[in-house]
Amino acid sequence: MGLFNFDFGKKLVNAFSKEKLDDDTWKEIQDTLILGDLGPATVKVVIEKLKKHPDLKGVGDLENAKKVLSEVLIEVLTTAKSLDLNLSQNELNVLLIVGVNGTGKTTSVGKLAHYFQSQKKRVVLAAADTFRAAAAAQLETWSQKSGAEFVRGQDNAEPASVAFKAVQRAKELSADILLVDTAGRLHTKAGLMDELGKIKRVIEKQSPINEVLLVIDATTGQNGLIQAKVFTEAVDVTGVILTKLDGSAKGGIVVAIAEQLKVPVKFVGIGEGLGDLKIFDPSEFVADLIN
Ligand code: GDP
Ligand code: MG
Repeated sequence: MGLFNFDFGKKLVNAFSKEKLDDDTWKEIQDTLILGDLGPATVKVVIEKLKKHPDLKGVGDLENAKKVLSEVLIEVLTTAKSLDLNLSQNELNVLLIVGVNGTGKTTSVGKLAHYFQSQKKRVVLAAADTFRAAAAAQLETWSQKSGAEFVRGQDNAEPASVAFKAVQRAKELSADILLVDTAGRLHTKAGLMDELGKIKRVIEKQSPINEVLLVIDATTGQNGLIQAKVFTEAVDVTGVILTKLDGSAKGGIVVAIAEQLKVPVKFVGIGEGLGDLKIFDPSEFVADLIN
């Protein structure tokens, strides 16, 4: 068994390899995809692509069904944006972490710190969530666990000023990676754009931003996706970290994210520990799903 074991995959293959692909069967496929948390809009896209697939036989051929399904799902999972992290050697790489409150941003920053530290990279964490008093302390704990350097501001400091200070510190240390943890305040789109815009501007005066990673909680399903959309409208998101996949029996949300947000899932969170972050590989995900 692979990393993923979502039961809707087996139901899907069963329905799709029936003797006849008639209206009832398509309805069953549709219902199964909805159950798997792809959401109505993405289900429609997937069904259309399945129906149009040139190799579709639709006469009880299991291997054919698996082949067509896997090609369509991988196609939807492959967005125009690169799946690989955009990192450079021998200079500072800045990763900005954004998303709704409680989705797992701070935890993911901690896990990413461990991930990069174990590649012998020098990592700095910036506590640019200055909204909650406990947020910086939480991030500091992760910096201790991972061995990363930690930068925070004075109480009530502007998030952008913390980001500024952190870039300076990272440069002094000749760090490879700066992870900027932000607050998840979802007031208005204008307010969010304003706050993230300020953070981006002060960082970009000193260093390019390599990745803007949006954290989405898999257990919130389609609602989480709607909330996440506001962030993709406010900043140029380059990838998604999908957390709490360990607590979701579904997993089709991965497909919905790629289709609806046009942003690839780059990492998945599968627990609360330091090592519970995995690089996401679409082919592996689809293979796990349908086999
Ligand atoms: P933030 O508000 O976005 O910074 O979210 P936090 O990082 O504080 O996480 C909120 C809660 O989700 C915490 O209790 C975390 O332990 C938990 N959490 C984060 N990622 C995962 C994950 O991948 N799996 C599980 N099971 N819990 C997670
Ligand atoms: Mg946080």
